[in-house]
Amino acid sequence: METCPDLNFSSPIIVISKCLGFAHCRYNGQIVPSLFVEAMSPFVEFIDICPECEIGLGVPREPILMVDDGSRKLIQPAIGLDLTEKMTTFSRSYLKGLEDFDGFILKSKSPSCGIRTTKVFMDPDSGKCLYHEGNGFFAETVLRDYPDLPVIDERQITDSFLMDHFLTRAFALASFRDASLSGKIHTLVEYHTRNKLLFMAYDKELLNEMGNIVANRNELPVEEVYEKYLSLLTRVLSKPLETGYVVNAFMHAFGYFSRNLNAGEKFGFMQKLQQYREDSSIIFELKKWFISRAEEFNVDYLLKQTFFCPYPPQLSGSLQIV
Ligand code: SF4
Repeated sequence: METCPDLNFSSPIIVISKCLGFAHCRYNGQIVPSLFVEAMSPFVEFIDICPECEIGLGVPREPILMVDDGSRKLIQPAIGLDLTEKMTTFSRSYLKGLEDFDGFILKSKSPSCGIRTTKVFMDPDSGKCLYHEGNGFFAETVLRDYPDLPVIDERQITDSFLMDHFLTRAFALASFRDASLSGKIHTLVEYHTRNKLLFMAYDKELLNEMGNIVANRNELPVEEVYEKYLSLLTRVLSKPLETGYVVNAFMHAFGYFSRNLNAGEKFGFMQKLQQYREDSSIIFELKKWFISRAEEFNVDYLLKQTFFCPYPPQLSGSLQIV
């Protein structure tokens, strides 16, 4: 992606499984290195946590399993230990004790951290797997108590669309958090203005509702306005991008400089847009094209739009190195 000269990025606070590059804390003493987590480090504040170590399990340790014999349990079969209560209590109190955070990166397949990837057994001894799509105990608490925050695992990081969506949400939430610290409406207006195209690309109708909240015609107290806005912000970014909305956002942006283009260039853009309808991976190329046109025609409004650059461009390059 081209550079994004007019954007400053707030740093998202991401809670991350400690074994993803931070410590050799897996049951077998191993660590899971991630180039992408390394690449994110300069732009993100990580809070690394190993729930199993926090409840007192050592490294190395006997493996633990998730069991479902009518109720879900966390069991360490080698020593017949039931860790369910300990892990449930820890997960709730740990997450409650954190002040601010914008998302989670968790280790897949773990009985503590896995999201929809954890094996669940019928009983601790038979080795008979009931299903493979369980949530680990810590992850379950995350998904239940923070349904509006982005969550991804280290395997999904390799999917550039999922990662793009995760990063977009995390950076938008971090930036909102910073804006809300000001306690001023005009800061929210500025936030809304630079995110307009982004939200338009996710859901035009919700964008309009957000605009109404920012306008604050009923003169509500500032805190209430921010609260109402946040509930729509989390909704607007909760679903993946929809082609129709994205095309609409591109067309809207095109209107800012189309008069400067000749017929051939306009036709070229329409062809690119058609390509995007057939293959959504073109979106990254289209955004690049918009940034270079906005720079060429000095369209300040577009250069400030997070839609074209929702997170630091260095991370866009990193999507290729996972
Ligand atoms: S998956 Fe979670 S509990 Fe297991 S080692 Fe990694 S951080 Fe610890």
